Amino acid sequence: MNMVKSRLMDRNTLRSTIIGVIPKTNGSDGIDEDVSKVHPIGTAAVVVQITGTNWPRPAYTLLVTGLCRFQVESMLQETPYPIATVKQLDKLSDDDNDEIKTSEELESLAENFREQATKLVDMLDTSIPVVAKLKKMLDSVPSQHLPDICSTIVKASFSEKIQVLDAVDLAERFKTALPLLMRQIEGLKLLRKARKDGKVEIVTRKEMGRPLNMGGVFRKVDPDLDDEERDEDVDEVGDLESKIKAAGMPDQALKSAMKEVKRLKKMPAHMPEHAMIRNYLELMTELPWSKGTKDTLDIVQAKKDLDTDHYGLDKLKKRVIEYLAVRQLKNSLKGPILCFVGPPGVGKTSVGRSLANTLGREFHRIALGGVCDQSDIRGHRRTYIGSMPGRIIQGLRSVNTNNPVFLLDEIDKLTKGIHGDPSAALLEVLDPEQNNNFVDHYLNVPFDLSQVLFIATANNVSTIPPALLDRMEIIQIPGYTAEEKMHIARRHLIPKQLKEHGLTDEQLQLPDDTVRLIIASYTREAGVRTLERRIAGVCRAVAVKVLETPTDELDRGNKQQASPEKEATQKESASAIMHPPNMPIVIDEAALEDILGPAIFQSEMSQRLSQPGVAVGLAWTSMGGEIMFVEATRMVGEGKITLTGQLGDVMKESASLALNWVRANAKKLGLESRRDLLHNTDIHIHFPAGAVGKDGPSAGVTIATVLTSLFTGVCVRSDTAMTGEITLRGLVLPVGGIKEKMLAAHRAGINRVVLPARNRKDLHEVPESIKGEMQFVFATTLEDVLEAAFDDGFPGDRSVLELHSKL
Ligand code: ADP
Repeated sequence: MNMVKSRLMDRNTLRSTIIGVIPKTNGSDGIDEDVSKVHPIGTAAVVVQITGTNWPRPAYTLLVTGLCRFQVESMLQETPYPIATVKQLDKLSDDDNDEIKTSEELESLAENFREQATKLVDMLDTSIPVVAKLKKMLDSVPSQHLPDICSTIVKASFSEKIQVLDAVDLAERFKTALPLLMRQIEGLKLLRKARKDGKVEIVTRKEMGRPLNMGGVFRKVDPDLDDEERDEDVDEVGDLESKIKAAGMPDQALKSAMKEVKRLKKMPAHMPEHAMIRNYLELMTELPWSKGTKDTLDIVQAKKDLDTDHYGLDKLKKRVIEYLAVRQLKNSLKGPILCFVGPPGVGKTSVGRSLANTLGREFHRIALGGVCDQSDIRGHRRTYIGSMPGRIIQGLRSVNTNNPVFLLDEIDKLTKGIHGDPSAALLEVLDPEQNNNFVDHYLNVPFDLSQVLFIATANNVSTIPPALLDRMEIIQIPGYTAEEKMHIARRHLIPKQLKEHGLTDEQLQLPDDTVRLIIASYTREAGVRTLERRIAGVCRAVAVKVLETPTDELDRGNKQQASPEKEATQKESASAIMHPPNMPIVIDEAALEDILGPAIFQSEMSQRLSQPGVAVGLAWTSMGGEIMFVEATRMVGEGKITLTGQLGDVMKESASLALNWVRANAKKLGLESRRDLLHNTDIHIHFPAGAVGKDGPSAGVTIATVLTSLFTGVCVRSDTAMTGEITLRGLVLPVGGIKEKMLAAHRAGINRVVLPARNRKDLHEVPESIKGEMQFVFATTLEDVLEAAFDDGFPGDRSVLELHSKL
């Protein structure tokens, strides 16, 4: 069919638009073919409903009500959609039409037709309510519409239907449509007879001349499908059915699938629901109901594999091996879910992957970052258009085994949205007591997830929903030291990047000093992801150089007696690439700067700390530890305090604690000459990286030091960083994230750290290599901090310190 006005308009515009539906002379479908091939007579129709789906492929159905016949007189426009002047051929279907009553012949034709139509409906092989509805319709429609309606529901060829359309004269229309009706009735009679004799298949196909129909006359009659294609349609459903039987589903799933197959068989293919059921059944057949891999677990080998794939990470590897050992002994996966927590790029995902390799299982990563809808996990119910299964079932379909390793990545980034809480859905997935009966809303039958090995990763434990946290065992990965990064680069990252860029170490060499330089000046991170990216950058540049080197030409040039001009050009090109062919390209500091640009990170300690009112604090973030320059300044004012740098409430409180301590202890600090530190003075304290939100109590000592430095005018030592919470009376309380903070200080080239005395025990987590290079000063009170923070020690009355130490 072609539509005279048929552009793919949006639904609202199209609804209740009058369109012209004209058949193509060749009977084909589609709207973009040659307009000149349309049949001259068509039907004007009004669009009453549009249904359809975009997923998995666009398929729309328009429900239209025919109004009248028309004839195309002349085409005005063909593109983007055809417009024509038309002539109305019969009266509108809504018009009161008593044409039949004017002629006796017509009246008897109509009466006979209605009788036969009722007979046909009675014989139909469809459900009783449908028959009742059809009968009601036949009784209520005006007689002149009967031939049009009946010829759409009987089985007829395309040309037969066109004849009915062409019959503008009503008597002729009855005469053309009646034989079609009679033929159908005869066919159904034969079918009944054959059923009685038990020869359904043969009779329907032979004597009716049509393939076996599933829903009586209501099967889609598609003019451009020949018999073979229709057979194919039936075959595909048959195929699906046999696949379902072979999929090894449990009874409940099998029952449900077979029920859907039955529905599918009865449904015309053009209905949107047909596609939905078909997709559902395809998913059912593709799920690994009883397909799994056999574990190849050997603890000794697993240890070796983990060591080969990853440098360091001893604590993590030890726990993973213990987990595997218990699993093997118990032969069950019940137990806590392992959750690797650490900054980005420390190898959380890649440990998961190598664990899967060790076990010989498939690996699948499910990114949970930003998931806020529980249907993402549990799927959408199939009543929605475009509904689909959740990520768990989709994952199982893609790995095609029922015992993969699933890595639930960034489980701390789950958020609660208006469509339910995804963490509640995950709880069900992770609970070994329930997950053997996990019901995805789309699937609507239980799937056994008990064989799946779940591992989670997160950057920050504090944002993991508590109920989930309860199910998991946290393994912290704090980040790497520069030395560890060096080893990781040497053993893993450089060989991997060389391979990925098609290079060998005979073409590119990165000396240790260069790698150290990349780590120190081109990256500042806890993990190694940027380091890997920088190495990749070097490899790319070298790949270009390698290809630019005309090795063959130079070789040939050396062998042959070259002409003087040729020799000159060869020399030129050789000097342009600046290194002899067949020699490895060695990347030194100059070459590195050439490729990666000037150093991105430089130590700014001595520069920033060259004036009073600046100190370095240590902070913990989900990206690992970080150093933070805290700055303060004062100006004439009315005693106002301004804090900037996106601070949370806790940090604001620390700032006022620190200020009040300094004010209260002004005398001790040698500031007694002033009446009040805030008299006629405003203070502004700023925490850089203003766009990043910061909170936590550990900046207390830093703020107190900054303010002391500001008021006394003494600079803070340029080699010292500090961390610690304070009380109003000046005690220093312990803080968290010590290992990450020490790594960050070390990365930034700081070798002296003031930290709370009660954090002394946490230093055992810090690698020995770092401890050896750093000096730690333990503080119990703010006086201790200030004593350590300034070159000349405590800036005020030193007798206070002595008194304090006696206490
Ligand atoms: P995460 O999941 O923690 O963000 P990835 O697992 O994606 O980090 O790791 C980033 C890259 O760093 C990967 O290429 C990984 O192989 C590499 N990597 C990280 N840690 C190590 C390590 N200890 N040994 C070897 N390679 C590592």
